[in-house]
Amino acid sequence: MSPDHCSTDGGTEQLVEAQPETALDTARHQLVRAASQIDVDQNIVERLTHPRAVHEVTIPLRRDDGTVEVYQGYRVQHDNVRGPYKGGLRYHPHVSREESIGLAMWMTWKCAVVDLPFGGAKGGVNVDPKDLSDDETERLTRRFTNEIRNVIGPMTDIPAPDMGTSAQTMAWIMDTYSVQEAETSPGVVTGKPTSIGGSRGREEAPGRSVAIIGREALDYYERPIEETTVAVQGFGSVGANAARLLDDWGATVVAVSDVNGAAYDPDGLDTWAIPTHDVEPEAVTKHATEVLSNEELLELDVDLLIPAAVGNVITEANVSDVEANLIVEGANGPISFAADAILTDRGIPVVPDIIANAGGVTVSYFEWLQDINRRAWTLEEVQDELEEVMLTAWEAVRREREAHEVTWREAAYILALTRIAEAHESRGLWP
Ligand code: NAD
Repeated sequence: MSPDHCSTDGGTEQLVEAQPETALDTARHQLVRAASQIDVDQNIVERLTHPRAVHEVTIPLRRDDGTVEVYQGYRVQHDNVRGPYKGGLRYHPHVSREESIGLAMWMTWKCAVVDLPFGGAKGGVNVDPKDLSDDETERLTRRFTNEIRNVIGPMTDIPAPDMGTSAQTMAWIMDTYSVQEAETSPGVVTGKPTSIGGSRGREEAPGRSVAIIGREALDYYERPIEETTVAVQGFGSVGANAARLLDDWGATVVAVSDVNGAAYDPDGLDTWAIPTHDVEPEAVTKHATEVLSNEELLELDVDLLIPAAVGNVITEANVSDVEANLIVEGANGPISFAADAILTDRGIPVVPDIIANAGGVTVSYFEWLQDINRRAWTLEEVQDELEEVMLTAWEAVRREREAHEVTWREAAYILALTRIAEAHESRGLWP
């Protein structure tokens, strides 16, 4: 897996940098909005607007040329009322305290929507991994692990890969932690290689959950999957897995794209014949007979549109050109707030990221269970359990949507907040 590749509980949120609001603004805005729609103790809402802890460390790295550079590292723990903190670690020059807080809050909601016994966390190092050799990345990772060792652990806070980190990064963290604890602790991180306790089916999980939710949403709107057309922006981990599953289930995938543009065929593409991002990066247009721009893909008159590349691709500037009947968010935050409101006015339903791509953190939870029990599941077990978790979450969101007459996004946030608030009420405030 390349350092650029993300395989993450919560995803990489490249979008956040491009958004006018910070991740923290967005997360607080969403919390306040959900809180205003249900009867919830305002003291709990106030508690949830703040992280429980922000761990900020400095990480000295001896470069290959002998010089020492110092980087800033963060681990933000937002809320653990329902279970250990869970969320990715990213290596990116824009990693900051504030961004990590916002992303940690999103993880709290995401885990609650799919009813996992986890809270939300996020963190990382403000480094460009492309500037580091493999040896430097390993040294940085081991030192960072040491700096946050007292606040992570299989029962306290469980990191995962995110933007700029990979299964190999998780293996180094697991090894460093295990050596210092003098016992093998696979459950301290998820997204590991399967040779040391990683789960089968983890890599494809976010795309699989996007496909499952897409299928259920089509069914809800009474569109038989065999008669639907689908366009997918981004043919990476999330987009390719989602596109191929929907293709296998009978949908006609008319367009998929990468950063260079889209392959388009109104009769349906053979999604298995197009190499994914990790096999041959940015190769989609090389395998196309007809090429569209990414902007044109978003404007296709399809039954289902899945933006699964980066954030903030549907904004006030292009939302009036969107012709899809239904949108399922594969990427994190692909639709701006303003555009989301316009889509609602136009009657185009949007199923939000916090349920659709939650398959990643769900299979991370399965990985953690397997690590704790020291028993690996088969791929079939992972897929069956994921299906069950996603269908249960979908039904729960659907019930909230109908009960409160709100959008899918509002329903997902209401469900998450209700579960978190109930847990806070039960536990109370100590002292
Ligand atoms: P990836 O790196 O595997 O693939 C990204 C794809 O998007 C590539 O095909 C790339 O060419 C394309 N792309 C990049 N910039 C683009 C642009 N400006 N316009 C169009 N296409 C562009 O990434 P991924 O893991 O599939 O993640 C995609 C999104 O899903 C991100 O928002 C990420 O945060 C989110 N997500 C990922 C996971 C995960 O575990 N992989 C989990 C949850 C959410």
